[in-house]
Amino acid sequence: MHLRPSDVRRVARGARVRGYRGGMDHRLRVRAATIAVGVICAAALVTGCSAARTPAPPIPAVRSSTPGDSPAHSTSSTIPPAHAASHAPPSVIRNTSHAQTSPRPTRAAVPPASRPVIVIDPGHSPAIRGIDPVTGLDVSGYENEPEMRDVFAVAELVKAQLQAAGYRVSMTKATVDTPVLLNQIAATANNAHAALALSIHDQAGNNGGIGFNQGNNVVYYQSVGDDRVAGNGQETVFTDGKVAALSQKYGQIFRAQRAKAESHAVTLQGDVGYDLGSRGLDSGNIWMVQLLARVPWIYNEAGGNSVGRAGLSAADKAKYADGLIASVEACIPLPR
Ligand SMILES: [Zn+2]
Repeated sequence: MHLRPSDVRRVARGARVRGYRGGMDHRLRVRAATIAVGVICAAALVTGCSAARTPAPPIPAVRSSTPGDSPAHSTSSTIPPAHAASHAPPSVIRNTSHAQTSPRPTRAAVPPASRPVIVIDPGHSPAIRGIDPVTGLDVSGYENEPEMRDVFAVAELVKAQLQAAGYRVSMTKATVDTPVLLNQIAATANNAHAALALSIHDQAGNNGGIGFNQGNNVVYYQSVGDDRVAGNGQETVFTDGKVAALSQKYGQIFRAQRAKAESHAVTLQGDVGYDLGSRGLDSGNIWMVQLLARVPWIYNEAGGNSVGRAGLSAADKAKYADGLIASVEACIPLPR
């Protein structure tokens, strides 16, 4: 689908859309230099998560340069194949350690309307295709197993604990198998005026999976200048400095809290670190949900294989959840 020039317009408050003007700006040159690395990584980890398929690639951050210059677009609309599905049923998780060590009383005294809204995005969806009508961006989703079921289980732990603490919590899909487009995920948080949204992903699987303690433990925040380029050449740039500042601040908190709860290093990045076009997605360097958001959005990646298995054990799901819960509580303290 190609939009007419008259359809090019500002996208909400957080991003603006620019028409393609051709030319090669600094960012493109940086991408050209890094794309080979991305291709290699994608080739090495073809069955992984929608998020980073490489543990924190050592590539300098890509930043926007002259407004109005737009990189040439050469992506296809190909969606990565779904991971070879094992469809292991989700484990029954009981976060006993959390409940025993740090009981979280409900805060009935706080009026419901004044409680912060937290939106949780458990990564991935059964295969669904779509183009965002405003930006022209490919907002398709794809299933990735065992990641999709594991991170949904983590999300349910986070939701339960945050609700018990007194937050209002929304999930971006009703069940693990509910199909949802990436722009719908962003809209859930935008429409709820969420104080904070968080995505939960990991890198699991027999092929291309990364150990929970081995890598891919990354916290991504939104930065001004991050962008994606649609198949029709339209570039959408994240431009909301206020949200970006909050996102960076919260990202630092997530990095610290997750590292503490997960007992391993967690890295912090203000962009993906390589050109997503190298993976057949719309070109650019910010996760789609973060780009389309008008609220602070922290995108979490993790290693997805616990010791001796593909996918996360109950204990590692609980660690991942505990770090996310502590992060939210530190970022958005409840009113007293
Ligand atoms: Zn993922």
